[in-house]
Amino acid sequence: MLALRKLALGETRLVLQEVPEPEVRPGHVVLDVAAAGICGTDVHIRRDEYRSEPPVTLGHEVAGTVAEIGAGVEGWRVGQRVTTETYFSVCGRCEHCRTGRPNLCAQRRSIGSFEDGGFAPRLLVPATNLHALPDALAFPEAALVEPLACVVRGLLELGRLDAGDRVAITGPGPIGLLALQVAKAAGARAVMLGTAADAARLELAASLGADGVLTVEASDGLADAVGDALGGQANVAVECSGAAPAAGLLLQLVKKAGRFVQVGLYGQPITLDMDQVCYKELQVSGSFATTPSSWYRALALAGSGAVSLAAIVGATFALRDWERAFEAVDARVPGKVLLIP
Ligand SMILES: [Zn+2]
Ligand SMILES: [Zn+2]
Repeated sequence: MLALRKLALGETRLVLQEVPEPEVRPGHVVLDVAAAGICGTDVHIRRDEYRSEPPVTLGHEVAGTVAEIGAGVEGWRVGQRVTTETYFSVCGRCEHCRTGRPNLCAQRRSIGSFEDGGFAPRLLVPATNLHALPDALAFPEAALVEPLACVVRGLLELGRLDAGDRVAITGPGPIGLLALQVAKAAGARAVMLGTAADAARLELAASLGADGVLTVEASDGLADAVGDALGGQANVAVECSGAAPAAGLLLQLVKKAGRFVQVGLYGQPITLDMDQVCYKELQVSGSFATTPSSWYRALALAGSGAVSLAAIVGATFALRDWERAFEAVDARVPGKVLLIP
């Protein structure tokens, strides 16, 4: 089968390469991949800005159907529609594993970075990672449950977003658009901030129910415009862009005694005026990937329609057109770009 792979560290080129199909193992299943989303992390892995262990097939946002079932696996049937958590293996013994935070396990090996991922027609995963898809969730949008679970982790489980919060979000990429929908579903007001280059993405944010969309270039009066849209100063700042100026802007905009929720990754150290965290008595939280609980809540939000994943499917490409797909990501097409292996 053809798989999109990173072959070596220090090499930013990805290669579509013929590899053997995965063989099913005890406790595991092989999936027929229906769709796999391209994540900012894939771009970071390509540039060695995120840890990986090549040679490896990329892709960790996956939905598909069960194709083969390994020995000892119960409760799943061939043809069942599923999505999969991303940790291929964790140690299972460390404090983080034992307290429900496998995302923090030092031995964590995830699909798409350390183990072969979903940019290929077939994928081997542990059966314990599977989640059945609600009927309401079709392909390809079901592949977006993973990024939605990341947003649930950051905003709901750790950022403690609540009804009545006034939320300013930077970065109208797929993660920001999911954050916007989760904030609205939680009963918050939310504005989306982007740059002039984000015009089309901001339009999509507006159509998804943002209480305001604003470009940061018009920064004269930006704070007032955010306050007008939210009915008061933002008490929660959510940084989804992974761009240093956005973090600095949010530190200025967020209300005293507010919360700063970091979701985006910068891929390198950045400079920030951390004194503001003291002066304003801000609570800062970060999140890294997902825990199992994030997935159940993400599936509930997507299955009920409280969050629309279909609305943020931006473009789909056949796997052999992966270069055009990555160009579409670079060109900031509105919504998520997916590969169909
Ligand atoms: Zn991702
Ligand atoms: Zn562990």
